[in-house]
Amino acid sequence: MNKSIKRDLQALYDGVPATRCAGSGECCQLTPEEFDNHYATMFPLYRVEYLNIVEHVEREMPAERRDALLAHTEERPRRCPFLGADQGCTIYSVRPLICRTYGAMNPRSIQRESVHMVGQLPDRWIRDFSRREGAMVCPRVAVLEPEKVRLHAQRTADGTYERELTRLSLQVDIAGGERRTLFQRVSGRRNWPTRWSWGGYNAVRFAPLQWLRAQFKSYWKSSELADAG
Ligand code: SF4
Repeated sequence: MNKSIKRDLQALYDGVPATRCAGSGECCQLTPEEFDNHYATMFPLYRVEYLNIVEHVEREMPAERRDALLAHTEERPRRCPFLGADQGCTIYSVRPLICRTYGAMNPRSIQRESVHMVGQLPDRWIRDFSRREGAMVCPRVAVLEPEKVRLHAQRTADGTYERELTRLSLQVDIAGGERRTLFQRVSGRRNWPTRWSWGGYNAVRFAPLQWLRAQFKSYWKSSELADAG
């Protein structure tokens, strides 16, 4: 991934208020009910974020752990593959936006920022913002940079995060050659999903070609998360 894409991604991440989490690991694994209701950890994961994490895994992880993570093709694991034995995140510095923003707002700040945005953004956007953020409140997360909350709320509500991550994702590639043509033929799409899962992207980038030739059709057919809303 080139330096300017990396820089823009980091700049976006830096706008999210830093938080301190009690480290229970609860939001990084699914309860049986959540699993049955099609929830997923670490989703949406944008293509550019996936590649950023791959670079980190290839650079920082011991070979055995690295190989296991890159061979992981499960779309909706019950436990995020990056959750450590101590319930901490093992890729904290490169975790995706969805993990950074979890718990970054609380009921008071959601209410305050919703009121502040009235007249600046369409009411429907503000209602959607309030509903989405309300579902991401966590009493075990403390916000360490309250001065960033207003900008963060604005970017969440007006779609800046989504737009910017999409823009950056469209500039990076997952794989070429037969992997690409196989994906195009099976999926009927010209390009890779902009948002998918760690397992999904791994399947098309790292799974042995022989496996892809034999299995990708059924893998794709049962995929739930490729560009899911
Ligand atoms: S990437 Fe880290 S913070 Fe995000 S779900 Fe996985 S373990 Fe949790």
